[in-house]
Amino acid sequence: MAGDRRAIGRLSGSAGEARARARQDADERRAAPNILNPNEVRGDYDAGRLLMTTLGGQVRPITADDLAMFRHNARMAGQRFKGGITARQVVDMSLFDDRKRARRQITTAVPTAGRGLRGSNGQVSSLEVRFITNAGPDSDVSRHHVTVEFTGYQTAIASGAESPQRAAARLRKEGVRFDCDCGRHRYWFRYIATIGRYNAGRPETGYPKIRNPKLNGVACKHVLRVMAEIEGGSAVQAFLARAIAKGRQSEDGAGHIRQRQQEAERLAEKQARRPRGGPSSTGDRDYDRARRALRRQSRATTTKPKRTASGSKRMQALGATPGARDKLVEAARQLGLTPEQAVAILQGGKR
Ligand SMILES: [Zn+2]
Repeated sequence: MAGDRRAIGRLSGSAGEARARARQDADERRAAPNILNPNEVRGDYDAGRLLMTTLGGQVRPITADDLAMFRHNARMAGQRFKGGITARQVVDMSLFDDRKRARRQITTAVPTAGRGLRGSNGQVSSLEVRFITNAGPDSDVSRHHVTVEFTGYQTAIASGAESPQRAAARLRKEGVRFDCDCGRHRYWFRYIATIGRYNAGRPETGYPKIRNPKLNGVACKHVLRVMAEIEGGSAVQAFLARAIAKGRQSEDGAGHIRQRQQEAERLAEKQARRPRGGPSSTGDRDYDRARRALRRQSRATTTKPKRTASGSKRMQALGATPGARDKLVEAARQLGLTPEQAVAILQGGKR
């Protein structure tokens, strides 16, 4: 896919494509039968619903203790993200595996359009920028849509003493809200984003009881690549400076701007040409900074891949060959299960 223009595709029609995917997402959500709603997490839960969780490593019906743990996890997530989140924190607080996938699989992240968003008082308060990234190797689509809102925009357009470039440099270090149309964001992370109040798309109030009951992680590989470009890429810096200059011109700060197709393709090709492994410095300053951002060791919130080893051992105990074991671990990972949970399901099936 690297170097493939189709990874970005046509920009005209991309907003319509993003809207169509959002509509499909909302329809699927409405039709989903097994959502654990907030009032149920609070305790108003009928055990007869027999909803399942993977908390503790096995797939089993939800108990009152689980609900207490979900309430605790949600409270901790709310506290963790009090005061918003910055591009750097999104990278720092994300899981090792998500950062690795972003580094290896997502080669392009291009801003395509920006517009000022109005707050409840009718004033423009934040800047919404739409990004397109390529999709990973196992995806059934060729690109993903990531939306980022910059919450410092109002200040940036109001402080006319500062050049648009300086205001943009500050803007990208300030608060963001975000959304991605991929499954990982929708099913693992959107609930956490909603609780942390940094979701840019539709809120998700259904607790991720199967995929992510411990509420680990923050962002998918597409969002992570976008955040790395926000932190380190000169193209995003230039785009934000343009949006700020436009916002200052127009009386109400609306400041719609678009990326030209040709410019987007030039940027995508430049990004895709960058080497993905190799020496620590490639000579491409933007890229080196973006990659450093993704490499940075995250804090204690990160789950280390130690689980894989113990899961592997347990699969060995089940009598799986090393090849079969690797496949199981990979299949489990794609389903969002830990190897322990996969083993639990397999053992359950034997009984
Ligand atoms: Zn994504």
